[in-house]
Amino acid sequence: MEQQHPGYIHSTESFGSVDGPGIRFVVFLQGCPMRCQYCHNPDTWKRDKGHPVTAGELLDKAERYRSYWGEEGGITVSGGEALWQIDFLIELFEEAKHRGIHTCLDTSAQPFTRHSPFFDKFERLMRSTDLVLLDLKHIDDGQHKQLTGHTNRNILDCAAYLSDTGIPVWIRHVLVPGITDKDEYLGRLHRFIASLRNVERVEVLPYHTLGTFKWKQLGLDYPLAAVATPTAEEIRHAEAILADGLD
Ligand code: SF4
Repeated sequence: MEQQHPGYIHSTESFGSVDGPGIRFVVFLQGCPMRCQYCHNPDTWKRDKGHPVTAGELLDKAERYRSYWGEEGGITVSGGEALWQIDFLIELFEEAKHRGIHTCLDTSAQPFTRHSPFFDKFERLMRSTDLVLLDLKHIDDGQHKQLTGHTNRNILDCAAYLSDTGIPVWIRHVLVPGITDKDEYLGRLHRFIASLRNVERVEVLPYHTLGTFKWKQLGLDYPLAAVATPTAEEIRHAEAILADGLD
């Protein structure tokens, strides 16, 4: 019998309606290597926090809400960065598929690499993943480093891998005025998305400030304190550029 890996959970949401199709049980895992300047969950960053559960225990809890899922719903695992607990994720999604549950992974893909042991695990995980919500933070590598503390090269490579293997993907992009909303960047991102063959949907997520109090609670300075949330017109404009010709 394979060794069991406990999952370290930040929180769960019983009736999620924005993280994948239908009504979903959403699991937020602990731990994230990124340091996005707009992060609204900095309390998920540390991997060694949260309470441990087994895949079976978590799915037993999720299945209490199964009657609400209908045809489309299921479970979504988010974070933090869910791929930081890939051993637990494999156990969770394989058991979920065994129980006939739709599985969705919400990821920034920062841990992605084509090197072992990660890549072998990722390939195995994808065999039990029905949908990936892929968060592309910035198309420009220099800007991406400034915004998140990391390169985007392996993240774009993950998008290419998912395209080559035909895993369905929804692209998500946080619109931050003055940082990600320039037409040049949106145009480059659009061209990249258009080069992929597996994108079912593109979602523009407006930057918001709902998590800033958490930075304060953690004793951290919030870097985007001077940035306003985007207007409805700015959001429509970005959606029009990113989704152009993708239907
Ligand atoms: S990837 Fe998500 S959880 Fe991690 S720092 Fe960025 S916004 Fe926060």
